[in-house]
Amino acid sequence: MLKSLRLQLTAWYLAFFSVLLLLLCVLLYGALARSMEQRLDASLTVQASTAAKLLAEELEEMHGDAVGAAADVLAEMQPAGEVIAMLEDAEVLAGGAATQRLELAAAAQLARAVPGNQTVVALPGWGTHGARAASHQFTYRGRRFTVLAVEPLDSIAADLQSLRRTLAIALPLLILLAGGGGYLLTRRGLAPLGAMAEQAGRISSQNLSARLEIGNAAEELTLLAASFNELLSRLDQSFETMRRFVQDASHELRTPLAVIRGEADVTLSRERPAAEYRESLATIQQEAQRLSRLVDDLLNLARADAGRVQLRIEELYLNDLLAECCRSVQPLAASRQIELECRCAADVPFRGDEGLLRRMVINLLDNAVRYTAPGGKVSASLEAQGADVRIRIADTGIGIAPESARRVFERFYRADPSRSREQDGFGLGLSIVKWIAESHHGQVELHSQPGEGSTFTVHLARQ
Ligand code: ADP
Repeated sequence: MLKSLRLQLTAWYLAFFSVLLLLLCVLLYGALARSMEQRLDASLTVQASTAAKLLAEELEEMHGDAVGAAADVLAEMQPAGEVIAMLEDAEVLAGGAATQRLELAAAAQLARAVPGNQTVVALPGWGTHGARAASHQFTYRGRRFTVLAVEPLDSIAADLQSLRRTLAIALPLLILLAGGGGYLLTRRGLAPLGAMAEQAGRISSQNLSARLEIGNAAEELTLLAASFNELLSRLDQSFETMRRFVQDASHELRTPLAVIRGEADVTLSRERPAAEYRESLATIQQEAQRLSRLVDDLLNLARADAGRVQLRIEELYLNDLLAECCRSVQPLAASRQIELECRCAADVPFRGDEGLLRRMVINLLDNAVRYTAPGGKVSASLEAQGADVRIRIADTGIGIAPESARRVFERFYRADPSRSREQDGFGLGLSIVKWIAESHHGQVELHSQPGEGSTFTVHLARQ
């Protein structure tokens, strides 16, 4: 099995070319041999009929002396290669020097073997290569005469043999030349592929922004290079996203860890009363809780990216789910003196992952409460129209500026980092909301007026 594509292509090309060439030679050889035989037959037929005509005239002139007439005709014609033999019934009248080769019995047999007025037959037993014979019969005053023109196939056989010899030398040479040419052509044709492979080999995670040069290679290779470049672009983008994600995640993890370490260091630096230890442990516990929330979120997003989250689809009522979420956010809203209103009277059956949908609504409600000043209002509502379901969470909070509105769904993005941190946020809540909505074939929309409030609408489709 040939590994190199260049050699494989050359081998295929060569095999195909050789078969074609052989076929062509066989056809040409056959056609040539046939045409030589046909030419010979035509010339023999002319010779036989000319001799027959002359013999008839001589017979008339010599008052039926067949032997004399035949000798005259033979002398007059002086055939070069052919044997002209004249017979009366089965008896040879004349045949010049050639009749010596023509035994009487054989001639008689020949006369019987060549019936009819004018025919051409093959005589395979004649000489080394056989012969062709044309006969012409006629009757003169009731007597039956046969004129035969015979030519051995020796000269044709010699010509064909020399042709075969020439072909036997020329064919391998031609195949060799074609092989060499084919190899050079495939090498030239595949050279850009080698160059591309070399360029691709130099690309690593460090220089994913590099691209293959397309140049003016053949269309197929241009397509290949373009697809490869597109793949590189996608890889580059996901690498960049991953790098940013890891960077942001480590940055976020650093703060709570620093707080925990600092708190422990300070507390352990000297002996303290039990109350101080308790206070310090409470701070550490709070930070550890924050940390595990962050790690949970990161893990969820990483799983979502890897496509490893299996939705647990079940029948549920979205109105019940929304009411429960409002109930669980109620204590936080009350502690911040925010009025929380939940409008979801009618039953809205839905098929989805209850845990994830709950998480999505809680994130939105939580944000709405956290980014609304005391005395404000947060309202949650549910609308269903045919297959469309809309969950709307509106607040009268600080709102989001248009330039931030486009980016709030990005991971770790915070419109106002200091305020978000103050609100215990990592900038991951909305990216999780977006992922959950999309994994339920839905989407999230945001309308916001800075200073007046924000409205998040989740559009879901019932199946
Ligand atoms: P965080 O944990 O920081 O709240 P999110 O992804 O939930 O992260 O939100 C991203 C950013 O969007 C927040 O930092 C905040 O600036 C802004 N934001 C989210 N919800 C609201 C809202 N209801 N009102 C005003 N700003 C909001």
